[in-house]
Amino acid sequence: MTDLRELYQQVILDHTKKPRNFHEMANATHHAEGYNPLCGDRVTVYLLVDGDTITDVSFTGSGCAICTSSASLMTQSLVSKKIDEATQLFGTFRDLVMGNVEADQTIDELDRLAVFTGVREFPMRVKCATLPWHTMKEALTGGAATISTE
Ligand code: ZN
Repeated sequence: MTDLRELYQQVILDHTKKPRNFHEMANATHHAEGYNPLCGDRVTVYLLVDGDTITDVSFTGSGCAICTSSASLMTQSLVSKKIDEATQLFGTFRDLVMGNVEADQTIDELDRLAVFTGVREFPMRVKCATLPWHTMKEALTGGAATISTE
């Protein structure tokens, strides 16, 4: 388990230092801003949706390591997913970080997102990890206003 934790921390660190898909998207069909006042995380998520398929995802903003790495991994996970698959993935991810399901029950579906399993030990950090996902969902449902985790 120690080795796995170290691996997870390396992945989180890597995505914090070099966030993937970290840019604005001029041709985005959907976007929303999210704010987590508990930590000060701010994130804007951009989506390019074609029919019911997400074809591109990016984000900008400034957040803590958990928020930034979660947004980075989320963008990678959502490309070429259907909208209902993205919503389902969010549900599973939220269950994982809140400790509602065990990691080994979700590993197939979540793949690399399982690196956030340890967040459940830090309840304050759950909102950091889920903020990009809440923001993605808000963008998909059409709201343009800034959402808050409060
Ligand atoms: Zn945070």
